[in-house]
Amino acid sequence: MSSHLPLRTCSGCGGVFAKRDLLRIARSPQGELSVDLVGKKPGRGFYLCRRKQCLERALKNRNLAKKIGACLNEELLTQLRKSIENGQEVEPCRRNESMS
Ligand SMILES: [Zn+2]
Repeated sequence: MSSHLPLRTCSGCGGVFAKRDLLRIARSPQGELSVDLVGKKPGRGFYLCRRKQCLERALKNRNLAKKIGACLNEELLTQLRKSIENGQEVEPCRRNESMS
């Protein structure tokens, strides 16, 4: 077990996952959002585990849109849904009990 494994929180369920297991949605300085498959794009962003319910939940979260300062467009949504369908569901390292 590595103690240096980076952990990130899913914006949908609030569970804590290994960073590599999450999808990252990054916002470019131009304000465009894109799915960051390698987790290395610059700018602000948020993370989602590969569950549809988390994607839908995150989309309904207005604070999230405010936080990243951009709106999710249809193109990105399609891309996200596709990524999630192709991806494997991952179990969180830790669930955020306060959000359930
Ligand atoms: Zn989640």
